[in-house]
Amino acid sequence: MSPPAVDLRGLSLAELGRLVAELGEQPFRAQQIYRGLHRRGARTFDELTDLPRALREKLAGRARLAALAIDLAQVSADGTIKYRLRTHDDRFLEAVFMPEKGRNTLCVSSQVGCAMGCTFCRTATMGLIRNLTTSEILDQIYAVERDLAARGLGGAETGSSGPRAGVPHTDRILSNLVFMGMGEPLHNLDNLLPALEHLLAEEGLNLSHRHITVSTSGLVPEIERFGREATVKLAISLNGTTDAQRARLMPVNRKYPLARLLAACRSFPSKIGRRLTFEYVVLEGENDSEGDLDRLARIAKSVPAKVNLIAYNENPGLGFRSPPEARVQAFRAGLEARGVDAFIRKNRGRDIAAACGQLAVEGMGKRKLRVLEVLPS
Ligand code: SAH
Ligand code: SF4
Repeated sequence: MSPPAVDLRGLSLAELGRLVAELGEQPFRAQQIYRGLHRRGARTFDELTDLPRALREKLAGRARLAALAIDLAQVSADGTIKYRLRTHDDRFLEAVFMPEKGRNTLCVSSQVGCAMGCTFCRTATMGLIRNLTTSEILDQIYAVERDLAARGLGGAETGSSGPRAGVPHTDRILSNLVFMGMGEPLHNLDNLLPALEHLLAEEGLNLSHRHITVSTSGLVPEIERFGREATVKLAISLNGTTDAQRARLMPVNRKYPLARLLAACRSFPSKIGRRLTFEYVVLEGENDSEGDLDRLARIAKSVPAKVNLIAYNENPGLGFRSPPEARVQAFRAGLEARGVDAFIRKNRGRDIAAACGQLAVEGMGKRKLRVLEVLPS
């Protein structure tokens, strides 16, 4: 018999309420299940320890609880940890933990592979294999939290050996999330939006909306929908300052050229005072001229947006070069001099290929990759 189709972790509190009613249980059970899954991070039915065994068994008959397996964890000299996670159908994805003073950030994936075909990005070489479900998006966070606690990186109660069942998220380790791993998050909005709801929910992880950033290559209709339906921060990967140049780097620009993208940015609703960020990967001799600097400053001021500069991490075979550090610093100073807030994104975990744009799962070559499409229609 095939496992039930409904994934318990993907259900909203209201949906859990309906399920519990169908099972003839008391309404308060829905909240208990929700807290068990999202606040305490239970990853199996048995870890829903505050439910009677009979109810756990009934639930297991009606729903499944997909758990990602940690396939590999690589620790960088700078403390960054790159996790390779395996789905129930043997797909692989990556998430990167970046500890910093005062905050711990997890960079998460939204898809296995990516359809967008950016010519400088390693994930693009995988093509799109499939979307992650809402439950899988969330379980990256829950699986990594569990592992970090087992490593003794958690709050007061940690230091135990082996994973603790249902580590309460109240002394959780992760404070910030960035959707900058594999995939184009806005190409998977139907699964992303409910995942964001769970992450922000008071009964769940209760993260602050200021501490979650979603990054997009520039899908205009989806940016508009995200603006209406999400409250978290948005970053746009700009990477080019003219249509011809940006289209060479990011095929999405052929469909949504700069004028359309920037119009969407200008009308992006600033709920909670969220200001847009432009990410700009500096590629030597490609997008780092004085002309680019002038145009980038003009674009950023016109939105207005701040700029995060990322020194390109070279991927062998793709034909682009990292800029010298001094060039990135000069770009930042040039932007500031032109009245734009500009920052340089620190490069983390380069020694384990965990840095921006280096995520792609090795060993997939033998599998027949199914590239579904070049661009979302
Ligand atoms: N797909 C989304 C989010 C994932 S990529 C997006 O493109 O925005 C996260 C960031 O890494 C993007 O800004 C992208 O431009 C950048 N990036 C991709 N490859 C890179 C590389 N090799 N070196 C540095 N940054 C890279
Ligand atoms: Fe996809 Fe982002 Fe890589 Fe482009 S840069 S291929 S959108 S992951």
